[in-house]
Parts: sequence; structure tokens; C-alpha cells
Amino acid sequence: MRKKLIVGNWKMNGSLQANAALLEQLRNGYDPARAELAVCASAPYLAQLQSLLAGSGIDWGAQDVSAHEPGAYTGEVSAEMLRDFACRYVIVGHSERRQYHGESDDVVAAKAQRALSAGITPIVCVGETWRDREAGRTEFVVKRQLSAVIHTVGHCTSEIVVAYEPVWAIGTGQTATPEQAQAVHAVLRAQLRAATAHADRNRILYGGSMNPANAAALLAQPDVDGGLIGSASLDAGQFLSIVAACPWVAQ
Ligand code: PEP
Repeated sequence: MRKKLIVGNWKMNGSLQANAALLEQLRNGYDPARAELAVCASAPYLAQLQSLLAGSGIDWGAQDVSAHEPGAYTGEVSAEMLRDFACRYVIVGHSERRQYHGESDDVVAAKAQRALSAGITPIVCVGETWRDREAGRTEFVVKRQLSAVIHTVGHCTSEIVVAYEPVWAIGTGQTATPEQAQAVHAVLRAQLRAATAHADRNRILYGGSMNPANAAALLAQPDVDGGLIGSASLDAGQFLSIVAACPWVAQ
């Protein structure tokens, strides 16, 4: 079993003051033997993450990246800019971006490609809506979303992190059961294996109302390699409890 990866998605939350307090608690409470840890913040706070997390063993990243190369794209943030702030990760294709900003599978794939070309690991989010699930389309939807990325990034497929985030579970308090999560993760694992001989390097995270009470059961699933955590990542106690819920892995 691999060491788990726990990533916080702060979404559009935070302030210089609140972030400093949260990061201080994370630095003091993080046990690197338990899991790898990262936080993804809004672009204006990346310099703060870089200065306060350097040397802590905690990684940081962004929540989005432009699909374009540097140029005339007002308001966009390029992968090269994220690299300037030593981002290790960038979330791409979060359902809130797909839903509120109309990001298509192709745009998400282009973003993943731009991240990889700047040496940043994209955390590619896939997930079905409740309506998709009710209609028995879960597998079809997540495979379609991941397939667009695999098709675009080709031989770099083993370098991506995938996050399965059922849309109906994000920020709703409704979590996929461990069995539901494992079933979809197994489908994604098989898809990655068919695309790359190095799929053992891919981590597949679960995201959607993960909290200290449900984390252990989700993280115990064989194909759940960690978590992408929204609301619970804004509370150091809860976030660190999720890290503590990771199964012990002998190194
Ligand atoms: C997310 O935004 O990626 C997420 C999983 O949110 P929450 O944990 O709040 O459901």
C-alpha cells in the first residue's frame, strides 16, 4: 500500500491573517510519517504558502490554471506563474469550474497538459452528478472525463493525480459510501492501467464531504490513495484528524 496523499482545497476562502494561523497549526501538527499533505489556495495566497510552508514537508498548489500559454489572456494565471511560486500541484476540472465556468473535458485536458509542461502535477477532478448516478451513467461520465485527459497528455498519464469527486457529495455533507467510492476508483484504476504501463504511480483521491468521522473507512479502500478535502481543510484540527485516519504504511 502506498502512503496516502491528503490535499486541502480551500476554494475561495482565506485571508492573510487566517491563512497564517491555519498554516502554523498544520506545520506544528503534521506527521509526515502518516501521509503526504498539500494545500491548494487561491492565486493571491501562493506567495504566502511558499514562504510559510517552505521546509515544512507540506506541499502547496493552486486551484486552477490557464489552458493557454503566456500571452494576451487578461485575468488568467499561467502554469509558468504557478511554477514561479513553487507549486507542486494544481487542481484542474473541479466540478465548480465545470459547472460555473463551463469548462469542457477538452479545456480540462488542456489545463492538465499546461501544468505538466511546467513541471506541476495536475490533480484532475472527475465525477458524476446525482442525475448521472440515478441514470446509471456514473462509469460512462467519469471515464469520458478521464479519457479526454489521457488522450491529451499521452505518455505523461502516469504523472497525473486523479480525484474522484461525485458532484452530489461536494459540500453537501452527503458522502459516497466506501463501497461506492471503491467501485468508481477501481474503474478509474483499470482505465489508467489500460493507458500506461506505469499506472502504479497514479494516485486516485476521493473527494466529497470527507471528514474525520468518515475518513478512515474511505481511506481503507484499496484503490483510495488519499483525499481531496474542501470544508474540513479550513479547520486544522479536522484536517489533521483526516491525516491521522490514514492507515499506517511501513516504509
Ligand atoms: C472539494 O471542493 O473538492 C470538496 C471535496 O469539498 P467538500 O470536502 O467540502 O465536500
